[in-house]
Amino acid sequence: MLKGIAASSGVVVAKVFKYEHPVFTIEKQEEPKEVALEKFHNALERSKEDITKIKEKAAGRLSPEELAIFDAHLMVAEDPEFADQVEAMINNDGVSAAYAVDQVANQFVTMFESLEDPYFKERAADIKDVTYRIKCHLMGVKIPDLSLINEEVIIVANDLTPSDTAQLDKQFAKGFVTEVGGRTSHSAIMARSLEIPAIVGCTGILKACQNDDCLALNALDGTVIVNPAEDVIKDYAEKAAKYAEEKEELKKLKNAASVSVDGHHVELVGNIGTPKDAQGVLDNGGEGVGLYRTEFLYMNSNELPTEEEQFEAYKAVLEAMNPRPVVVRTLDIGGDKKLPYLPIPEEMNPFLGYRAIRLCLDRTDIFRTQVRALLRASVYGDLRIMFPMIATINEFRAAKAIVKEEEANLRAEGVAVSDNYQVGMMVEIPAAAILADQFAKEADFFSIGTNDLIQYSMAADRMSKPVSYLYQPLNPSILRLVKLTIDGAHKEGKWCGMCGEMAGDEIAVPVLLGLGLDEFSMSATSILKARRMVRKLNYEDAKKLADEALTLCRAEEVEELVKKTVK
Ligand code: PEP
Ligand code: MG
Repeated sequence: MLKGIAASSGVVVAKVFKYEHPVFTIEKQEEPKEVALEKFHNALERSKEDITKIKEKAAGRLSPEELAIFDAHLMVAEDPEFADQVEAMINNDGVSAAYAVDQVANQFVTMFESLEDPYFKERAADIKDVTYRIKCHLMGVKIPDLSLINEEVIIVANDLTPSDTAQLDKQFAKGFVTEVGGRTSHSAIMARSLEIPAIVGCTGILKACQNDDCLALNALDGTVIVNPAEDVIKDYAEKAAKYAEEKEELKKLKNAASVSVDGHHVELVGNIGTPKDAQGVLDNGGEGVGLYRTEFLYMNSNELPTEEEQFEAYKAVLEAMNPRPVVVRTLDIGGDKKLPYLPIPEEMNPFLGYRAIRLCLDRTDIFRTQVRALLRASVYGDLRIMFPMIATINEFRAAKAIVKEEEANLRAEGVAVSDNYQVGMMVEIPAAAILADQFAKEADFFSIGTNDLIQYSMAADRMSKPVSYLYQPLNPSILRLVKLTIDGAHKEGKWCGMCGEMAGDEIAVPVLLGLGLDEFSMSATSILKARRMVRKLNYEDAKKLADEALTLCRAEEVEELVKKTVK
C-alpha cells in the first residue's frame, strides 16, 4: 500500500498502464548551419501543429481556462526570443539543432524555476513540455500517444504534462497516479476538470508496480494498493459505486434551493482566500461569498498592496459573484498570520494580542487604504464589509466611522460608491456574542467565527495539538453563545451568518438550522453536502433538536442526539 495526495476524487480498480516519456541525452554535435536551421524550423512547425491538434481534441472536454494552457504552449513555440537564441547558437557555434534547443530550453527553464511567483513556475513547466516535444521531433523519437489507449487502465507515470492529461479519454483512462506533483499542479487541476480520479506525489509507485498489475486507487484519501486481495477489490467496487451515486445526487442540487422540507430558507455560501476561488464557489452552487479573507492579498505580496491593487481584487470578486452577496473581511493579520514587511512586536499570547481590528484601528493608514478600495469596488456588486475580532462597541463604532468618513471623502472626490453596501462584524470573541443584542443595533449583520470563538471560549490555542480536544463546536456552551448571537441579530431585524469551520460540519448543520442561523459559509466543496442536509430537514423539528441540545451538558451528547434524530 502506498500513500499520495488525493488530487481528484474518486475510487477505481483497474490494471496498470505505465507511461514513461522516452529519455534521451543530447550530446554536443556539429551540424552544417543550413541543415540545423532547417531542421529546427521543421521541428518547431510540427510541434505547433501537434499542440493545435491536442487543443482541438480537448475542446469540449476541458474548460476554456484549461484550454488556455495550450495557447500558452503555442506562445512558447512562437516566442521570438526563444527562436532567436536557438538560431544564434546554431549560427555562432555550429552545433546541431537538437543541442541548441536543449541548451536554450534549459536556460529558460532554470530562469523561470528560480522565480518565486507560482505563475512563473508554471511557465517553466510549459517550456519543458513544449521544448521536449521539439527535441523529440529533432531526435526522431515518438512521444507515446495516450489517446490511443483502448482498454480500461490506471495510468502510472513520473509526472503527466498538461498535453498528456488533455489526451486522456475518460472512457479508458480510469485514473492516474504520479510520483511527483501536488494538489495544485497542472495535471491535478486538469484531472479534476476531466473528473478522472487521480493521486499525485505518490513516491515509489513506478517501482512498486508493473504493466498489467492490478491497482486499487482510492483518490478520496490518497491510498494506492498494488495487486489487492479479492475482498479489497470488492470493497473498492462498493466504495466506487457509492461515490459515483453520491456525486450524481449532489450535482443535481447545484441549482436547487437551500430550503427545508417545511419551506424555511437559508443561504449557503463559500469562504474564499483569493479572487480566483470565486469560480469554485459558483461551480458548487454557492449563493454568494460569506467570507473573503483579504489577508492573503497582503500575505502574497512583498509590501502593502496599493489601493489600486486591492480595488482590482475586490472588484473581480464582486463582478464574478454579482448579483450574489460578497462579505469581505477587512485585514485580519496577527495571531498566526504575519506579514514580513509589517513587523508586529513579539507578544506572549499573539492570539490575544495586537491583531486584526486592533491593529487596523492603530494603523489607520493601512485600514483607510483598504476601506477606500472596498468602497470604490462596492458599485460592482452586493458588498458587505465585515470587521474581524470586534470585542467592544467602541471598536465597532470607530471602524464604522472610518468607513463613513472615507465614503464621504470619495463622494467629495466625485467617486461613485454604492448606496446599499452593508457594514457588519465577525462575532468571534465571547464578549461580543454575549452583548450581541447591543451590537445588533449598530451592525447590519453578524458572521460567527467559530474557529476563534471556540478557542477564546475554551481558552485553548487553536494551534496547539495537546489542547486540540477542546475544539468542541457542539459543546452546549458554544451553542449557547451562537444562540445569543443569532437571537441578538434577529431582535433588531438583522441577519446572522457563520463562517467558521463549524458552518460546514454536517453534524452541526441541523442544530444551527434549528438555532435560526440565516447564512452558512464554508469551503466550496462542502456546499452541496450542506444543501442536501438542509433539504432533508424539517425546520420545526430542527428547532426542537436545538432546544434540546441547549439543555445538555457535553458535546458528545449533542452529537449523539443529532445522529439519533437525523438519519
Ligand atoms: C474564524 O475565526 O472562525 C474565522 C472564520 O476566521 P479565521 O479562521 O480566518 O480566523
Ligand atoms: Mg477568526
